[in-house]
Amino acid sequence: MTARETLGLGLIGSGFMGKAHVFGFATAQRVFDLPFAIAFACIAEQTADLAEAARASLGFARATDNWRDLLDDPAIDIVDITAPNALHKEMALAALAAGKHVYCEKPLAPTAAEADDMATAAERSGRCTQVGFNYLANPMMVLARDLIRDGAIGEPRSYRGIHAEDYMRDAAAPWTWRHDPAGGGALADLGSHALATAEFLLGPIAAVFGETTTVIAGRPGPDGQSKAVEVDDIGRALLRFASGASGSLEANWIASGRKMQHDVEVYGSRGAILFSQERLNELKLYDASDPSDRSGFRTIVAGPEHAPYGRFCVAPGHQLGFNDLKAIEIQGFLRAIAGDAPEPFNFRAGARVQHLVETIHRSAAEGRWRSTAA
Ligand code: NAD
Repeated sequence: MTARETLGLGLIGSGFMGKAHVFGFATAQRVFDLPFAIAFACIAEQTADLAEAARASLGFARATDNWRDLLDDPAIDIVDITAPNALHKEMALAALAAGKHVYCEKPLAPTAAEADDMATAAERSGRCTQVGFNYLANPMMVLARDLIRDGAIGEPRSYRGIHAEDYMRDAAAPWTWRHDPAGGGALADLGSHALATAEFLLGPIAAVFGETTTVIAGRPGPDGQSKAVEVDDIGRALLRFASGASGSLEANWIASGRKMQHDVEVYGSRGAILFSQERLNELKLYDASDPSDRSGFRTIVAGPEHAPYGRFCVAPGHQLGFNDLKAIEIQGFLRAIAGDAPEPFNFRAGARVQHLVETIHRSAAEGRWRSTAA
């Protein structure tokens, strides 16, 4: 690939994640030495008005109310999908068939079978893919993984993961696509992040025992009438890792007061690691060999030693934010497109997470342990 070749971006969706992706692409090409620049070619939305408003505010050259316009546009190299979950598969398969690289938000698809189809299509296409598991791009999460791998806490014995927020706490909050049985529910929405993190840190989960609960059985629909909610508000699972460690995991979108609790606790034979996304620039490390009169968790604060923090800021403790994680995640994807590195979290990896989500749902329905082997 020649220096500073330009790649055209076609973005689908301009909501929460659509914006975050624009910030991520804009930052990645300035912060990292990438072999190409990004041209913000076209943005697709549901209506012409939404598309035009997004084009103007986010800085795209063109706007469309038909995402299929991105497919035969030769100025577009990457199709970026930030639309609701149930639309991911159709959009991604069409984009791959059109020869585009595809970046798709999590969860990859409503079912594991659909996610597998997407992964297989990606592999056959020879194009690069990426799924939006941004929390794994945090240098403190990478440090946690490296510390565990290098034996800093001894043999990992016990794992606790939780992703809790409260955006569905209020029973008057309307029914949205997040309540659509096709891909909705707390476990798919938040638990997908928690599961990706669990395997990132401790390796494969071998078996799960799930439990899911719908607490708010109906929410205001578009016509003001109550619309039944069939998806989980809380999804939990007991975990057995292939390594022999055991653990638990919770996804909860009605956790009053919690805004972004993507937390992890790993207890090993010689120490422990704690992480909380609400303090995403910190890692807590306990070393059981410390003298007993000064033992305790110490706080490691993110700084330039924790690459790529130094790309954003020369001063330690000044902190990265959520959108910076997106930029790091996107940098990995762009390097893969350049052929410089493997895809950080491609459609096959995204399909694996979807298998875990589905296996927990099955286990909960059957009331028994289930192997996660595909
Ligand atoms: P959102 O509702 O804020 O945005 C979705 C956007 O897609 C809306 O602007 C909507 O108008 C648009 N859209 C819907 N149908 C469309 C169509 N046919 N064509 C073009 N645009 C269409 O939702 P969001 O919170 O941005 O979530 C979007 C995706 O991102 C979901 O898959 C979600 O799970 C994921 N997500 C990921 C994270 C993360 O941390 N990685 C966080 C939030 C959401």
